[in-house]
Amino acid sequence: MYRILEILRREQGFLSGQDIGEQLRISRAAVWKGIKKLREEGYEIEAVTNKGYRLILHDTMYNEKEIAQGLSTKKLGRTICFYKETTTTNGCLREIALDGGDEGTIAVAERMTAGRGRRGRHWEAPAGSGIWMSILLRPNIFPSEASVLTLLAGLAVCQALEAETGLSPKIKWPNDILLNEKKLVGILTEMDCEMQQTHFVIVGIGINVNTTEFPEGLGDIATSLYLESGRTFSRKNILQRVLVNFESLYEEFIASHSSFAPFLFRYKEKCSTINQEVKVLGKETFFAQAVDITPEGELVVIRKDNGKQEVVFSGEVSIRGGKQGE
Ligand code: ADP
Repeated sequence: MYRILEILRREQGFLSGQDIGEQLRISRAAVWKGIKKLREEGYEIEAVTNKGYRLILHDTMYNEKEIAQGLSTKKLGRTICFYKETTTTNGCLREIALDGGDEGTIAVAERMTAGRGRRGRHWEAPAGSGIWMSILLRPNIFPSEASVLTLLAGLAVCQALEAETGLSPKIKWPNDILLNEKKLVGILTEMDCEMQQTHFVIVGIGINVNTTEFPEGLGDIATSLYLESGRTFSRKNILQRVLVNFESLYEEFIASHSSFAPFLFRYKEKCSTINQEVKVLGKETFFAQAVDITPEGELVVIRKDNGKQEVVFSGEVSIRGGKQGE
């Protein structure tokens, strides 16, 4: 049935059932069946007597075919596992990775039933409104270097959202993106490794795109592109742009022998955490003033209680500040 879709997509105008059948060497009845199935999937296909069929493309179509259409990456998203509903895309991709899945494979869900943030906290991922995606990477790096990938994913998403929407979201170090101080994006990086060797890394990205409302309690701290701008956006376009940006940053990261230094300036430009008061929730909880980010991607803070400078590692803390405050 997807071959019918490709033919209609190429044609852009009307094509008779007979023409389609001849091109694919199938019967007209088989063409009709395929059209019916495509319609069931949500594709709008016009049928006019004596003219035939015509595909009406909507930006809202969101599935593996649409995501692959026009995607210009080399590796990221070359294999797409799309789920109408699943527990978590990170979980699905982990299974795929353990089965030998290729670097760049992505898992995308229309809806996640058990979305989670760090420390297993619930992540709200309803159908129709957001991008819930995980990306499989197999970098030859030390496990300790993997946290930089979270920062690069944040940068890639931030730049993609800016380019696609004209809005100016900011990164909250290390793993969130905020718009008007509310959480727009969450990033959850997980990995499978030994002491000195990384087997694979999964970067999970959740973006609230066209969400019109959040459940009780979440509305004060979470937001969507729609809620901030009054406009709806194509999830497919944003997703593709995220992949293109992230691939380019990832290649640069590998080429620079997994150093964060080349990205420091770009990252700091988009990061709102610097100069903010933060609450560091690690082994110890304390208030501090964030002052800088190191070339390794760690946060430099000055503690409120003793005035001492400390370096905070992204793997071990949650930062609270702005409307995210607790
Ligand atoms: P942090 O990085 O701040 O520690 P997490 O990565 O653990 O946060 O994300 C989980 C938290 O994000 C939840 O506790 C909830 O407050 C918030 N949250 C859940 N779903 C969404 C969503 N769709 N959009 C924005 N924030 C959300």
